[in-house]
Amino acid sequence: MSLNRVPVLIVGSMAFDDLELPTGAFPNTVGGSATYASYAASTFTDVRVVAVVGDDFDGSTLATLEARGVSTSGIERATGRTFRWAGRYDADLVGRTTLDTQLNVFADFQPKLAEEHKTCPIVLLGNIHPALQTQVLDAMAGPQLVVADTMNFWITGEPERLAALLGRVQVLIINDEEARQLSGIHNIRRAAADIRKRGPHTLIIKRGEHGALLFDDTGIFAVPGYPLEEVVDPTGAGDSFAGGFIGHLASHLAKEQPNPRTMRTAMLYGTATASRCVEGVGTSKVQTLVMSDVEGRVAQIRTLFELPR
Ligand code: AMP
Repeated sequence: MSLNRVPVLIVGSMAFDDLELPTGAFPNTVGGSATYASYAASTFTDVRVVAVVGDDFDGSTLATLEARGVSTSGIERATGRTFRWAGRYDADLVGRTTLDTQLNVFADFQPKLAEEHKTCPIVLLGNIHPALQTQVLDAMAGPQLVVADTMNFWITGEPERLAALLGRVQVLIINDEEARQLSGIHNIRRAAADIRKRGPHTLIIKRGEHGALLFDDTGIFAVPGYPLEEVVDPTGAGDSFAGGFIGHLASHLAKEQPNPRTMRTAMLYGTATASRCVEGVGTSKVQTLVMSDVEGRVAQIRTLFELPR
């Protein structure tokens, strides 16, 4: 851990994923929102994770996280099975169907935060039960920035707990389908306005390969997705986006408080991080990501809207 790096706290799932990709089946792939987001954010800064794994989880993932500057002391190893998720992708790698979600050890998880977790200035409440996201927030000593992610599973399954959480979140990151589901409004701009009234001053709507939109009091900002020649596995793109986003904000926090300009720049870094993630199966790419890979992709994305001289 470096002394002058601003650490981020990440809570979310650590999982075994059964992935059905057009290229084949990849059972028991290590995944989870906290895993992807932590690998992504560790490219930028120090990371501290709060999560739970079962006794079937392999220690090598924790060692790989630690080697990248991720503090894993907040990852509890409980008796039982690790969270499991199974998903099938359509041939175009855009559509995805959740086949199975098993909470397993997450069902009885009570997050315990140490001092090093409570004092982080930026927290990412990664995709997990909104009650757990809230408990983590309750235990913190007033973070400067609260960023949250969620998904359809919780929007439909835990609407009240999610609504309570939203009132305490400054930046919400969801995809377009989730924004429509959460607001009940089809038009994305009107959906965004509705969601922003519920708490988050900044809303980021991810649109898969088409990039992402940011809505705040300053206006609307768009970052295009980088058109890749080959997408291998989109799993974890959203979590990697969130990890890159908070990682960038944390690495600039000593100089600048998060503001509309840094949020917009962070979106570019989130998009670049996500586009690197999807170039490999599972966490294979994001776990070896270095800053020059991200900067290279940011430069490529910038060329997409640069006029020739
Ligand atoms: P993404 O592709 O960014 O939506 O993230 C995929 C990851 O989210 C997978 O590795 C899953 O293990 C994890 N995941 C899927 N469903 C849930 C859920 N309901 N709660 C928490 N994590 C989930």
